[in-house]
Amino acid sequence: MKALQYVEVGKPPVVVEVPTPEPGPGQVRLKVTAAGACHSDSFVMGLSEQEYAQFGYPLPMTLGHEGAGIVDKLGEGVTSVAVGDAVAVYGPWGCGTCYQCAQGKENYCERAAELGITPPGLGHDGSMAEYMIIDDPRHLVPLGDLDPVANVALTDAGLTPYHAIKMSLPKLVAGSTAVVIGTGGLGHVAIQILRALTPATVIALDVNDEKLALAKEVGAHHAFLSNAEAPAAIEKALGRKTVTAVFDFVSIQPTIDLGGALSGVETDQVIVGVGAAKADVGMLAKPYDSTIRSPYWGARAELMEVLNLARTGLVHVETEVFSLDEAPQAYDRLHEGTLRGRAVIVP
Ligand code: NAD
Ligand code: ZN
Ligand code: ZN
Repeated sequence: MKALQYVEVGKPPVVVEVPTPEPGPGQVRLKVTAAGACHSDSFVMGLSEQEYAQFGYPLPMTLGHEGAGIVDKLGEGVTSVAVGDAVAVYGPWGCGTCYQCAQGKENYCERAAELGITPPGLGHDGSMAEYMIIDDPRHLVPLGDLDPVANVALTDAGLTPYHAIKMSLPKLVAGSTAVVIGTGGLGHVAIQILRALTPATVIALDVNDEKLALAKEVGAHHAFLSNAEAPAAIEKALGRKTVTAVFDFVSIQPTIDLGGALSGVETDQVIVGVGAAKADVGMLAKPYDSTIRSPYWGARAELMEVLNLARTGLVHVETEVFSLDEAPQAYDRLHEGTLRGRAVIVP
């Protein structure tokens, strides 16, 4: 079968021919119907040899941690899914038995690192192939009638902002305000989730005018360039300097500083982007009861909730579709920042 693999640190991913994998006992094989390309893949492929070694992901590795497919073959003992089922992949795999996993929050598995459990596409072979192996059927969620190509990105670009926003919902009451920094794959879905679940006024910030136009199209009340003038533009729009919550899908020093500048009493500053930056904390540096959180992906039940938002038409992903042969170009476009929404690979 064909697969898009990261083969050598620092080199672009390549389409290769590999043996079609067989499901072992308890595993499930999917015929992949769609796979999404995430900026986290670009982050991993941008690491130096030394940095990459810290992650310890073996190479070659088939990319893709957003996946959807049709159950194609069952490993010995699997009874909870059937051949032909349309499914989405719950990607943050855990041990299944620790306290966090018991709550369906395998994204926060307490033993994943110790047991060497990693998500598909971020440690072992992922969804950017004709077939993929799922370690356990509990990592599959029914897709039903949802179009896999239009909805595969909800497994991460939907689930991650959903989880991030859900934790701040009690604060996002009538009259509240939410800032979304970075309105790409995750950010443009975050805006829709905010609009669907809260009465908050939503402000989008990005460095790219086309992304700002998309942000307005999907429901942002205001959209401004993310630069030194952004705080003044926000103050003018809202009549106040601070906001209720900041969801940062970039998380580099300028956006972390911007989030800090927009923080007032009880503001949630939510760092979703994978970057390295410093933030001031403490009684003398941060307003009372303001928080900084770094959420990671989401719970299995939350994936079901996000898919339900799509079923009711409240959330949709803007997608640009690529074949497996074109997948390297999808990552080029992601890197250049010229995608509208999410790149989805259809094998
Ligand atoms: P993306 O490339 O689709 O979107 C990023 C957006 O940020 C683009 O629209 C870009 O123009 C914009 N941007 C760049 N610099 C900016 C700045 N200084 N100010 C404002 N906007 C700026 O990426 P994505 O796939 O949506 O991923 C977003 C981030 O979230 C990445 O860092 C990714 O690694 C991370 N991520 C985290 C999790 C998690 O669980 N925490 C999950 C998935 C992705
Ligand atoms: Zn991702
Ligand atoms: Zn666990």
